[in-house]
This record gives sequence, C-alpha cells and structure tokens, in this order.
Amino acid sequence: MKSSAKKDYLNRHILIGAGVGIVFGFMLNAGMFSPDKTQTVLYVLGIVKGVFINLLKMIVVPLVFTSIALGIANLRKHSAMGIVWKSTLGYFIGTSALAVLLGLTLVNILRPGVDTQIDIFEKDMSAYTSPDITTSEYFSKFINERFFISPVKAMAEGEILGTIVFAIFIGIAIVKAKEKAKGIHNLLQEFFDLIMMIVGWIMRLAPWGILALLAILFASQDIRLLKSLAKFIGVVLLGTFLHGAVTLPLLLKWFGKFSPWIFFRGMKDALITAFSTSSSSATLPISLRCVDEHLKVDKDIAGFVMPLGTTINMDGTALYEAIAALFVANLIGLDLNIVSQLMIFLVAILASMGAPGIPSAGMVTMIPVLQSVGLPIEAIGILIPIDRFLDTFRTMINVEGDAIGSVIVNRYCINKRVRNKQGKVRP
Ligand code: ASP
Repeated sequence: MKSSAKKDYLNRHILIGAGVGIVFGFMLNAGMFSPDKTQTVLYVLGIVKGVFINLLKMIVVPLVFTSIALGIANLRKHSAMGIVWKSTLGYFIGTSALAVLLGLTLVNILRPGVDTQIDIFEKDMSAYTSPDITTSEYFSKFINERFFISPVKAMAEGEILGTIVFAIFIGIAIVKAKEKAKGIHNLLQEFFDLIMMIVGWIMRLAPWGILALLAILFASQDIRLLKSLAKFIGVVLLGTFLHGAVTLPLLLKWFGKFSPWIFFRGMKDALITAFSTSSSSATLPISLRCVDEHLKVDKDIAGFVMPLGTTINMDGTALYEAIAALFVANLIGLDLNIVSQLMIFLVAILASMGAPGIPSAGMVTMIPVLQSVGLPIEAIGILIPIDRFLDTFRTMINVEGDAIGSVIVNRYCINKRVRNKQGKVRP
C-alpha cells in the first residue's frame, strides 16, 4: 500500500474506532449486556487501553528530550531562537489570557450555580481531603520540585517539565560547543528520526486504543450526576467550544495565514487522541507527527513549540479553572468583586501553566485558584466526579492551542528570517 493511502486508511480507522467506542460505551452503560459479559468486555478493553497508553508514555520522554534539544540546537544555529522564544511565550500567555477572559465573561452572564442548593453536594465535599498547602507554598514547590531536578529522576518519573529544562540546557550547550559537539548533534538527529519511526508503529494501534479508551470512559459515566450539574457543564462546554472553534481558528487565520479547515483535517488524529486519553503529554507523539506531516511546520520550530506547549500552554485548563472558581463562589452565595475576579484571572493563567499534561491535572492546580480568593477547596469534591468527562474537551483544546501556536510561530519566524535576508530587519 502506498504511504498516503496507508495514512488515509489509518485516519478513517481512527474515526471509526472513536465512533464505535462511544456507541459501545453507551451500550455498556445502559446495561445492554449481562454483568458477566460486561465484566469480560471491560477487562479486555482495559488491556487494550493499557497497552496503547503505555506505549505512548514510553515514547514521550525520549521524544520531548530529543525534539527540544535538537530544536534549540538547530534554531540557535540559524540565530532564530530569540524570536521563536518571544513569539512562543507571547502566544502562550496571550491565548491563555483570552481563554480565561472568555470563561469569566460567560460565568458572569450565565451565572451557573446561583440557584443550586449546595447541601446536595455535602457528601462529595466532606469526602474530599484537601492537601494542607498555601498558594505561596504551592508555587515554591512547583519551582523546586518540578523545574530544576535531576534529569534521571525527571525522565524516570515522566516529569515533562524537568525533562524540558534539561533538554534546553543541552541544546544551548551544543550550540556553544560548535564543532566539538557535532557527534552528539548528529546522534540526537538520528535518535529523533528513530523515535518518530516508532511513533508511526504505535499509530497503527491507535484505532483500537481509542476505541477501548472511549468505550471505558462512556461506560463509566454517571449520567444522573452529569444532569445535576448540567448548567455548569453547559457553560464549560460553551466556553471550550467558543475558544476552540472561534477564537483559536481566528488567530490561526489572522496571524498564521492558515486555513482552519485544513488545520482541523490535518490535526484530526491528534485531537481524537487528546479527547480519548485526556492527556496532552500522551498525545504529544501523535500531535507532533500531525503538525510535521499535515501542517508542514518547520521541524525545529514544531519540535520546540509543541513539547513546551504540552506542559505550559493549556487554554482549556485555564478556561475551566476560571469558570469552576466562579461557579463555586456562586454556589456558596459569594459575589466576587472585580479585584477578586482579576486575581482569579492571573492565578488561573499561572496555575494552568503549572499543570502537567496528564488526566485531571487541572483538579490539582484548581487548589491555588480557589485559595487565591478564599474559596473552600473542599468544593473540588463536587467537581471530581464529573472531571473525567470535562477533561476530554479541555485536553482537546489544549492540544489544538499548541498546534495553532506552532503554525503561527512558524509563519512569524519564517517571515522574519526572509525579511532579515532582505536586510529590512536587524538579525
Ligand atoms: N488533562 C489535561 C491535559 O493533559 C490537563 C488538565 O487536567 O486540565 O492537557
């Protein structure tokens, strides 16, 4: 089979896998099979899900390390690193701010939680044991325990942020060492190519893995619980939809000069994987491949922006945390003034940057957001039971935001490089 025909075949199968997984999950949820059969089916699905997720996790740390180190080494060689850094961070902060602003606006207009009785959640709230940690302790713990740590520890524990920091140092050192580091530079390039080859193999399992993940997810959703928080869920989904289908595509069109239609077609596999795994880190191997193959972003720029975005650019998480904090305030009948809302705005952006790309990470980083304006952290107990469902959508937006960022940074930097050559802009 020709390679493009093979890819079409895989794309189709990933979509079919997602559709079958959702329908099958609902059938299991509705009790259409005997308890024995349901148990057996869930057992088999659990094994398929485990193999797929573990393969993605196996590849993600070496992938992050090589792509960041290589990206930095190659970009600094072209003296493009400064502009890539600035535009990437500008994009990450700007889009997270837009997401939080959208979330706050929607809650202020639609006011979820205002007419809801908090007593019905008493059991969930008392079941939640809050960690004894203040906001400042949270941020110092973040810097000390996740930023500058042993690369061996970071890699062994799948700690992406620590791995990225070490990779940045290695990338810069390779540039500074020039010819002396030629060997390791080439080695990294070859290693990266091998990893992408393995990603291609893992992709063949994607339709089955996605089927299993979605079937298990939908089989285990408590529909009654979702109904009891319907308005809050509706506001989160509306915000997520507006950010993912309007704000980000408009930025892509204006700043990236790229068709949103082609973008969504090219990123389909990664977005479905993000939806089913609820982990932007586990999705990274697939999203990097999509950005490289379908969006034609410069390899070095994608290799730098995508892994970094996976850990520090989380628009969906930022938006969710802002909405959830105001929802909790509405529930307990607290009218937060503009200063408190500004505080939520800032802390939600910072907290989303600190959230690792794993399922329900947003629940942990919710703590400083609630604490920053004196809201009870026990309220997280209300959100946890519905989190797995909402996490699917916010992870998809997180991955979409990273990919759009790489297209915009790519266009911006390539334009600058062309202008540099023409001598109109200082190199
Ligand atoms: N699951 C999200 C992600 O991996 C993080 C979160 O919980 O918001 O991107």
